[in-house]
Amino acid sequence: MQTIRCFIAVDISPEIKDRISSLISHVASQVPRGSVRWVERVNLHLTLKFLGEIQSVRANGIQKALDLVLGAIPAFDLSIAGAGLFPSARKPRIIWLGILPAHDVSLLAAKVDNAMQSLGFEPEDRPFSPHLTIGRVSRDVSESALPAIAEVVLKNQPGEIGMIRIQAVTLYRSDLRPQGPIYTPLAHVQLADGKSPNPC
Ligand code: ATP
Ligand code: MG
Repeated sequence: MQTIRCFIAVDISPEIKDRISSLISHVASQVPRGSVRWVERVNLHLTLKFLGEIQSVRANGIQKALDLVLGAIPAFDLSIAGAGLFPSARKPRIIWLGILPAHDVSLLAAKVDNAMQSLGFEPEDRPFSPHLTIGRVSRDVSESALPAIAEVVLKNQPGEIGMIRIQAVTLYRSDLRPQGPIYTPLAHVQLADGKSPNPC
C-alpha cells in the first residue's frame, strides 16, 4: 500500500509571501551562511495539523471529514506579526512569525484535530501554538553560536507584516528531499463563506 507524508495547512497570499521573503532575505544576510535553512517562498504556510505518513487512499476520507467541519466555520482574518524562536532564544531551532488573534486560529486547529480524531488520528498532546515557520537552524551549528542567531532574529522584529483571510484549508502531501521539501496540494476545503483559494 502506497503511503504519503501529509499535513493540513492554511495558505499565505502571494502579497504576504513577498513581504515575508523580503524579511527572510534581510535576516538571512545577517547570520552565517548555511546556519539556517530558510523556508522557500513557495513553501510558506501555516500548519494546522501534521498527519505524518498515511495510506494514500485515505486522502479522500480526510477531505470529506474536513468538508463536514469547516463548512460550518465562517472565514476570518488573521494578522501576521512579530518573530520568535522555539524552543527558546538560548537554543533556537525554529524561527517563526506570530499569528494573531491566537484564539481564532487555535479554534480552527482544534476543529481540524477533532475531525482527524474521528478518522483515528492521534489527538495533539500539546496545545496548538500558532506560528508560521520561516527557518530551521541547521543541526551542525554549534550551541555557542545559537544565541547570536536568535539575537539577529529578535533585532529584526517585523511588527505587523499583514493580514491573511482564512477562507480555505489545504491538505498537502510533503515529499522530503535533501534540497528541501516539495509540497503538493491534494485538496482545498472551503470555510463557510470561502471563495477560491489564493494562488500559490
Ligand atoms: P523538513 O522536515 O525537510 O525540514 P518540513 O518540516 O517543511 O521540511 P515536513 O517535515 O513534511 O516538511 O512538515 C510539513 C509541515 O508539518 C511543516 O509545517 C512542519 O513544521 C510540520 N510538522 C512536521 N512534523 C511535525 C510534527 N511532528 N508535529 C507538528 N508539526 C509538524
Ligand atoms: Mg519537518
